[in-house]
Amino acid sequence: MYKKLNMKLSFLSNKKCPICLTSFFSYIKLPTFYSQKLIENNFKHDINQAETLNIKQYTCPTCGANDRDRLYKLYWQNIISNLNQTQKYNFIDFAPSQSLSKYLKNIPILNYRSADLFMNNVDDKVDIQDLPYQNDSIDFFNCSHILEHVFDDRKAISELYRILKPNGIGILMVPIILSVTETIEDPLEKNEAIRWAKFGQYDHVRLYNKQDYINRIKSIGFKLTFLDKNSLQITDYNKNGISEKSVLYIVSK
Ligand SMILES: [Zn+2]
Repeated sequence: MYKKLNMKLSFLSNKKCPICLTSFFSYIKLPTFYSQKLIENNFKHDINQAETLNIKQYTCPTCGANDRDRLYKLYWQNIISNLNQTQKYNFIDFAPSQSLSKYLKNIPILNYRSADLFMNNVDDKVDIQDLPYQNDSIDFFNCSHILEHVFDDRKAISELYRILKPNGIGILMVPIILSVTETIEDPLEKNEAIRWAKFGQYDHVRLYNKQDYINRIKSIGFKLTFLDKNSLQITDYNKNGISEKSVLYIVSK
């Protein structure tokens, strides 16, 4: 009987967050507030067309990590395990998420720094369009869902390029909705309802077309690699709560 019960319980907790390593029955779905706002403001795209977004399995109930954070963790874990473990590597985590930040901070071979312009409790208060780091000084960076907020995204990308060491690597992600046929942007737009309508969020100033985003990254000089279902080597998408449509944008110099 106990065996049966155990089997039943293990079925109930068949999800496991790759960051906090706890098991549970289900991830928390993306708050309905978000889709309600999009409908209210007549946003014309369908977020089901988003490339890397797990609407049904969005947040870890234990650590609060979203599906992107979980994907990044699996990627960095693999990269870091293949490094020379006797060296130190400079890592900048822009607009850090709490759970991923905690994981990265505890990796002994990383000189980890969190960085943001507005967040409290970061190591460096920085404007990504004008970074205080030296040329060719950073081994790795994580920069996720920032470029769609900043006034001059090309300046931000060129700053990331400038600080990265040759052969350094970064994760450089923005929200991509596959049905968006051209990038629209207006960094001067301040009206939140208009921003919801045009860019899909109250604090976004642009909405990228995928190819245009790729062109902007490459025009600065970055090499760009996509990691998708064929190359990510994730053994269990469902357990990790990661969408099989996810694509990681990896830049290198
Ligand atoms: Zn978690």
